[in-house]
Amino acid sequence: MKRDDQQAAEEPTYEQCPYCGDFHPTGTSEQCPQKPKAAWNHQRALEDYTELMRRVRVGAYVELEMDGSFPPDDGTPESSTLESLHNLEELAARDGLEFVGNEQGGYSLEPMSDATKAARREAQEYLDQQKYMTHHYLGGE
Ligand SMILES: [Zn+2]
Repeated sequence: MKRDDQQAAEEPTYEQCPYCGDFHPTGTSEQCPQKPKAAWNHQRALEDYTELMRRVRVGAYVELEMDGSFPPDDGTPESSTLESLHNLEELAARDGLEFVGNEQGGYSLEPMSDATKAARREAQEYLDQQKYMTHHYLGGE
């Protein structure tokens, strides 16, 4: 083996990242923060959402804790039902969508309505206010 070849083999190699155009160590471009998040599977999400809502309808779920937080996930579907619903709603909201019930008892993903946007904003303001209160009046710094 020629000395040049040996040196080449020991040097780290780089590849041009298809996502940000910079050079990353070979094989790491898939972890690039610029890589677009994989499009989530709407069909799968709708099926999950339908099943979770069915659980809620029949009462097969664990209710929120007294302080409004999600119940601890003890590995049962009941304990994670509300949190799973919330996660799906947040996933949809990131794309400006919401789950809307249809007459067939299923759901579809629709552009988020102004009413939902307003409700979400109000909920967020309420949460921020709670945090503020906790922070300033209940022993926070
Ligand atoms: Zn990159």
